[in-house]
Amino acid sequence: MSDTIAAIATSLGVGAISIIRVSGPDAIFIVNKIFKGKDLTKVPTHTIHYGHIVDKEEILDEVLVSIMKSPKTFTTEDVVEINCHGGIVTTTRVLELLLCNGCRLAEPGEFTKRAFLNGRIDLTQAEAVSDLITATTEQNANLALSQLSGSVSSKIHELRNDLVEILTSIAVNIDYPEYEDIEDITSNQLVPQIKNILDKIREILKQSKQGQLLKSGIKTSIIGRPNVGKSSLLNALLEEDKAIVTDIAGTTRDIVEGTIQFDGILLHMIDTAGIRKTNDKIESIGVQKSLDLLTSSDLVLFVLNNNEKLTKEEENILKKIKNKNYLIIQNKMDLENKLVLPKEIDSSKIVFMSAKNKEGMNTLKEQIKNIFQLEKIETKDLSYLSSARSISLLKQSNEILEKVYNDLKNNIAPDMVEIDIKEAWNILGNIIGETYEEELLDHLFSKFCLGK
Ligand code: GDP
Repeated sequence: MSDTIAAIATSLGVGAISIIRVSGPDAIFIVNKIFKGKDLTKVPTHTIHYGHIVDKEEILDEVLVSIMKSPKTFTTEDVVEINCHGGIVTTTRVLELLLCNGCRLAEPGEFTKRAFLNGRIDLTQAEAVSDLITATTEQNANLALSQLSGSVSSKIHELRNDLVEILTSIAVNIDYPEYEDIEDITSNQLVPQIKNILDKIREILKQSKQGQLLKSGIKTSIIGRPNVGKSSLLNALLEEDKAIVTDIAGTTRDIVEGTIQFDGILLHMIDTAGIRKTNDKIESIGVQKSLDLLTSSDLVLFVLNNNEKLTKEEENILKKIKNKNYLIIQNKMDLENKLVLPKEIDSSKIVFMSAKNKEGMNTLKEQIKNIFQLEKIETKDLSYLSSARSISLLKQSNEILEKVYNDLKNNIAPDMVEIDIKEAWNILGNIIGETYEEELLDHLFSKFCLGK
């Protein structure tokens, strides 16, 4: 990276201060050209200096300048940060002056991209920087911090080392068959080693799934017959009147959505049209959508009316959701009990509520946390991959190693699975960016904001 880049790192608007970041071999030299106070090329690293930014004779701003010399900086290059007085006009003028004096305007995410290309952070850490900036809950910020500190990268490195060890033992056997002191490696010996790696991968995938739920929220659909109280439940949770609550059957025709947050957990709630057989065309589209939603939801809240008997349709739905994460909301508890649930339903799946009187809300929230074991997650310790990119790569390596595992169990010779193990090792490398394509980097970093 031979050029020196600059960008405003703080958000543009009125504020007490704004920071312009400069990174590259000429960072100190260029800032020194427009700085009046002292000679910045002679100051020690990691020091702050008071002075003025001047355009020829004209003073543009009174500033504090931080000098951070390579290599202990975010990008590993020389970095200068100019603390200007906040405000768009002054900050932009200082930035323009830097550009006139030899800096190039940084592209979005270019500082982080340089940190990656210069080997200070790997790709999962770069992704964590982006997550940290966009985190909407405290939990999400903790997750991003843990990923930024390299917790998951070290696990991926560990997996790659394990694979290298196996590859070495196979290679030694192939290359030096004549050496008697080298023991022949058999398929049987490799089985437990591959199993051990697979277990580690599955654990990261499991934790990533939980992390993903915390990050993107739990897609929750509220289903049930018309009039059981789905919209009332959604409203009670949203504490606003976004869904239409009425007692004419079939009024929640389309899908009403809302997001709630409790204890750092995001729930994307979708109130579906009442599931029932219908001749009304518009409503039947809604009904189809609700059935489709069942398959794509992380959680199903199946609302039943405590004051009515269970219908055949409801019994069928109970069968449909059996293998999903679901809770039965026995609503209208303030009315007489006429509902009898099948005996095989686990009582821990039932939440007694009165959506109208906002009763049972806390139990519902606790039950949701239980289902996803979110209570137990220590976000700081989570080895978790946040991006769909890395998760799909990890799944790919998992698949390949599963095949290797089965081959070895079927006594296929170790040298026959060598190529697959290499492939898995390569794919794991892609996760942390040991090998990458320019196009992927451009795509990844273009999602960052300017100055990061
Ligand atoms: P949906 O069609 O399933 O969305 O049902 P709504 O939320 O529109 O509710 C239908 C009717 O039941 C409305 O008149 C609500 O006020 C009423 N309702 C909802 N929850 C309760 C409850 O817990 N107790 C009682 N008594 N009525 C309720």
